[in-house]
Amino acid sequence: MWLDLSRIIETPGASLPFETELDAALLASDAILSFPVPPTARGQVVNTAGLLDLHAHIRGRMRCRCDRCGAEFERELDQPVDQPLAADLPEDSDSDAYPVEDNGIDAAALLESCFLLDREMKTLCRPDCAGLCPRCGRNLNEGPCGCQPTPDPRFAVLEQLLDR
Ligand SMILES: [Zn+2]
Ligand SMILES: [Zn+2]
Repeated sequence: MWLDLSRIIETPGASLPFETELDAALLASDAILSFPVPPTARGQVVNTAGLLDLHAHIRGRMRCRCDRCGAEFERELDQPVDQPLAADLPEDSDSDAYPVEDNGIDAAALLESCFLLDREMKTLCRPDCAGLCPRCGRNLNEGPCGCQPTPDPRFAVLEQLLDR
């Protein structure tokens, strides 16, 4: 979605609201399986004293797979994005501003890359997910499996000493 910023680019205090759909296929991954409610972004680009900033929220609903136990679950998506934009960015600049070209930006492409960069690296069904037993593969969220915990090698030495 092309967002033409020419009306606000030279006007401090001006703002331009926008709303755009994002490409669900592009945002999916091993951890994010699908989007039962397609991802959309709403926000605005604001000219604050000559500097452009994009503020938006990406919303939708995701079907995820837990990194630890493999369970599938659904989660509301509401990710805020605050991204500075810059019109005349020198090519060797190390600024993290997003370049404005031809007085505009591809808002969907910008938000899709923000989503991919900011996404929590771990996708867990719950913060304290117990995961799977490394021996029998049982989902430990459903209760203990009865496997003996792997003995700590230091204690094994101690036990041998005590056995004597
Ligand atoms: Zn889990
Ligand atoms: Zn087990």
